[in-house]
Amino acid sequence: MGSGTTAEVATSTPAWEYAPAPESRDIVSIAGEYGLFVDGEFRQAADGGTFATVNPATEETLAVVAEAGPADIAAAVAAARRAYEQVWSPMPGAERAKYLYRIARVLQERAREFAVLESLDNGKPIRESRDVDVPLAAAHFFYYAGWADKLEHAGFGPDPRPLGVAAQVIPWNFPLLMAAWKLAPALAAGNTCVLKPAETTPLTALLLAEVCQQAGLPDGVVNVLTGAGETGAALVQQRGVDKIAFTGSTEVGKQIATTAAGTGAKLTLELGGKAANIVFDDAPVEQAIEGIVNGIFFNQGHVCCAGSRLLVQESVAEIVIERLQRRLATLRLGDPLDKNTDVGAINSRQQLDKITELAAAGDAEGAQRWSPPCELPDKGFWFAPTLFTGVSQSHRIAREEIFGPVLSVLTFRTPDEAVAKANNTPYGLSAGIWTDKGSRILWMAQRLRAGVIWANTYNRFDPASPFGGYQESGYGREGGRHGLAAYLSA
Ligand code: NDP
Repeated sequence: MGSGTTAEVATSTPAWEYAPAPESRDIVSIAGEYGLFVDGEFRQAADGGTFATVNPATEETLAVVAEAGPADIAAAVAAARRAYEQVWSPMPGAERAKYLYRIARVLQERAREFAVLESLDNGKPIRESRDVDVPLAAAHFFYYAGWADKLEHAGFGPDPRPLGVAAQVIPWNFPLLMAAWKLAPALAAGNTCVLKPAETTPLTALLLAEVCQQAGLPDGVVNVLTGAGETGAALVQQRGVDKIAFTGSTEVGKQIATTAAGTGAKLTLELGGKAANIVFDDAPVEQAIEGIVNGIFFNQGHVCCAGSRLLVQESVAEIVIERLQRRLATLRLGDPLDKNTDVGAINSRQQLDKITELAAAGDAEGAQRWSPPCELPDKGFWFAPTLFTGVSQSHRIAREEIFGPVLSVLTFRTPDEAVAKANNTPYGLSAGIWTDKGSRILWMAQRLRAGVIWANTYNRFDPASPFGGYQESGYGREGGRHGLAAYLSA
């Protein structure tokens, strides 16, 4: 890519602008303060601890939220245990299903409220929270509601049993959706839950707790403990927890695996990734460009399965990069509540610092950085969509999870080389293949060490489809029939 290409991209940027199309935030009423959700009611933390959650697009404080300490964790696990023994596990599956269907329907009814709240607390574009996060969260509850009375036909023996109390710790990138991924299969299988949302995105989990009340879910079946990393660490160490489910960084996942060892608690870990999105010379270029953009710029790249390493066949590298640049120049970055926005805010200052640091490492190691002309708002946390070319496998930006809107472009010549480069990572969560040949898709898919492989598409999710990784991307599967296995003992 020469500088001529960049100039060409700049001049091809449309001269006209979209009119603002802001979604109204009036649909959401955000309380000044939020309590923990324990045993069916909202309450303050026993020691009165609180923290603030901010809108990452403006740095405005949205609310002050209770911070759960040891007494709250013990109370939530005890409430979940009581609910498990007295109400939820003895309840026939068909009855449990009714509650899950109710939660799913209320999520649909209140979809707009959830979408706006998610975009405010997380920074993601409303288009994504409205069209992806919230509908998929509802779909998960619908899907697992359908399993609740069919567990004996799920292939886990004639009488699969729930495990008990599940401690579930989730990250900030898909706050509501990750809560649904955790709660729906656990509840369908007859477990009760203590959920710990991420410190920077507690609000939709708390609204979901309100939905549990609205659906008449028995007290203690779902508990939500807000707090920071210490709350998560104390929760997974709490006696009386039978199952731990964690989604987040590989580093914390390893700590949790150490904590859980020898306790008898069953563990599933969904951790980081550094996926290869592989484009062959016979791929439909325009379709591949959309897939590359969706793969890394969806949700600002805060996606564990993001296609953060583009492997493009050398013979088409120049044209793919040029078209990609042209497409990136059309992305609109800004107000997450604007329905035209493609790229929203980075979730926190801490994450912005991490992305900035890794991108600087890319510069220092000799890769070439390119971003479209793009004005960043004065307030809030922002990072322009960024491409690095001239990346080699040893560069940090090719090895480490950046978790931001940064794409590292590498090239290959043969399918064998593509496989070798794609697998040259300690992770193994996902991969993408773009080619016209079905036989090549199958050949590649058999050789790529990744839990999820998309062909001629990327970042497609469905509740019926299992999701999970190999190696440092964790173990266990979420979604589909496989997702039930994590919450049952045969
Ligand atoms: P973490 O793994 O630290 O956070 C995930 C969840 O675990 C949060 O709820 C967090 O709480 C909680 N937590 C933190 N420490 C512990 C602990 N010792 N025991 C139990 N729970 C804990 O991710 P970060 O938010 O700190 O992000 C760091 C990096 O991790 C990112 O830059 C990104 O690269 C990667 N990441 C990957 C994700 C993925 O799905 N692959 C998801 C999120 C992050 P709290 O947020 O309150 O600290």
